[in-house]
Amino acid sequence: MSTYQAPAKDTAFVLDQLVEFDKLCETMQLGEVNLELAKVIVEEAGKLASDVLAPLNAKGDQNGTKLVDAKVQESPGFAEAYQQYIDNGWATLTAPEEFGGQALPNVLGTAVNELWHSANMAFALCPMLTQGSIEALIAHGSDALKALYLPRLVSGEWTGTMNLTEPSAGSDLAAVATRAVPAGDHYLISGQKIYITWGDHQMSPNIVHLVLARTPDAPAGVKGISLFIVPKFLLDENGDPAELNDARCISIEHKLGIHASPTCTMSFGEKGGAVGYLVGEVNQGLAYMFTMMNHARQSVGLQGLSISERAYQQAVWYAKDRQQGRRKDGTKMPIIEHPDVRRMLMAQRAGCEAMRALALTAAAEIDRSQLDGDARAAARVELLTPIVKGWMTELANELTSLNIQVHGGMGFIEEAGAAQHYRDARILAIYEGTNGIQALDLIGRKTLADQGAALAALLDEMTSVAKDLHKFGLDDFAERYRASLARTQEVRVWILERAGRDRQLMGAVAFDFLMLMGYLCGAWMMARSAVAAKALLTQESTYGASFLHAKVTTARFYATHYLPRVEQHAQTLMAGLDSVFELEDDQF
Ligand SMILES: Cc1cc2nc3c(=O)[nH]c(=O)nc-3n(C[C@H](O)[C@H](O)[C@H](O)COP(=O)(O)OP(=O)(O)OC[C@H]3O[C@@H](n4cnc5c(N)ncnc54)[C@H](O)[C@@H]3O)c2cc1C
Repeated sequence: MSTYQAPAKDTAFVLDQLVEFDKLCETMQLGEVNLELAKVIVEEAGKLASDVLAPLNAKGDQNGTKLVDAKVQESPGFAEAYQQYIDNGWATLTAPEEFGGQALPNVLGTAVNELWHSANMAFALCPMLTQGSIEALIAHGSDALKALYLPRLVSGEWTGTMNLTEPSAGSDLAAVATRAVPAGDHYLISGQKIYITWGDHQMSPNIVHLVLARTPDAPAGVKGISLFIVPKFLLDENGDPAELNDARCISIEHKLGIHASPTCTMSFGEKGGAVGYLVGEVNQGLAYMFTMMNHARQSVGLQGLSISERAYQQAVWYAKDRQQGRRKDGTKMPIIEHPDVRRMLMAQRAGCEAMRALALTAAAEIDRSQLDGDARAAARVELLTPIVKGWMTELANELTSLNIQVHGGMGFIEEAGAAQHYRDARILAIYEGTNGIQALDLIGRKTLADQGAALAALLDEMTSVAKDLHKFGLDDFAERYRASLARTQEVRVWILERAGRDRQLMGAVAFDFLMLMGYLCGAWMMARSAVAAKALLTQESTYGASFLHAKVTTARFYATHYLPRVEQHAQTLMAGLDSVFELEDDQF
């Protein structure tokens, strides 16, 4: 049976060679934090992920959550696993020390989060949403709200949720209709939120809902949305959970995947109004949500890597175990010896390595962007975020599908477990802003808004790697890489020249632009990895020759199998609106 192993060596390689973790920690003035400590933390996390969370993944899929007596009952074993997770301090990794956190860099938190999501994405969604709530409160909450809620959210004793979506307000949050009426020192919240992840459960004594709602005199649209804290249990004078608030889960969705993550319909104010406390200023709710979106969207991109890595490990295990066909000498052969199976395994491996490098590179840019005055990093975070979210989750759909293909018929049979990863991965392109919305963000707010400046800076930085590829004899990769960069420069000019001419044009080409940028960023990461591995091969290193040679080979595979997709997306993009909008609505 396939098990999960943390890819600790590759994580260490990326942190060391691409992120330059020690240098980052110095810049962040984190004296005692270094790569050696990061490796220990990743290895320790790997044990909990493999030994405790991974074995619960299939069980959670088969025994999803249930609504019993108006309470959501999480899947068997999850509460005990969650207790272990918080007892070992994993919830506190990156939070500020003043609220009980360990203040470790975001990039290290990201490396660790990869393991939780690989082991059990449905489980890991709960801490992920809590992290989002913590960030929102740190950035925008009053001192009083911070003091009351943050220490227990940071420790993981309480969990958090994000309540944005409503039946009529999905991608278009301007349509949020939940109401918040002032009532003394608090507000009374009423309305319905749908699809709320981990909206209810019994794993913690309180749940802190962050809810978008409108005050009575709020302006229409996005300018009239405010953010509120609505605790499941109101707090007594000691700050402990006491009376049940007027907020409850009225149903849980039956869905394609992540069965162990309760997706709740939440009803607020059935008995007159749920008590809610304003976060920050009135009418600033959506802006507040935006400040934490980079992190949340990168987390969903990371889930794309995590689930692809889990599926890859399973595919390798199966390909070595399953025998079909015979070698020339008549002996039976495992399917890993068939070139087509090899192609699929390499595609999974190269995709995962490119995604890991990109996820950690982008996460480190979040750390840098939080240092005073690092405008370059801030612009880079803005640009990379929709790419990490959009491209990595699209790729996750492809790579989890390849795992099924490696398994043959067995992949389609639930018992094998490959189908679960495929089903679980499907949500990633949808939540936290669909990939259509990510594409519009990339082309609009992140490219056109600054006249392509951040993109130009990124392309310049990418270009400098090409000569290093030549230096180490990776000429074929270098040529392909240069050609893709030149093509992307053309695309950049094409987009800037045509923006504003036709309202529909940018929307029609946005997705191809997103995917083009994703494959190019992946190539940038693989080029840097190959160069670093080649350099390490000329000296003594802890990685070992086998690992480093494999790194170079995997990068070369990426250059021949994924990089050509840049050209494909460029061609489609430059066809413009062409046939996309020619038919009338009633011709469909
Ligand atoms: C399992 C699950 C968990 C979730 N967890 C949470 C949660 O914890 N909290 C929360 O608040 N929400 C959550 N959501 C909601 C999720 O974020 C939304 O489903 C998502 O944002 C899309 O909104 P929608 O479903 O209304 O789709 P719609 O907005 O109706 O979109 C339908 C299609 O139209 C496209 N579209 C819509 N508008 C545009 C546009 N302007 N331009 C181009 N294309 C457009 C979309 O890309 C999509 O392809 C969750 C959803 C699911 C399924």
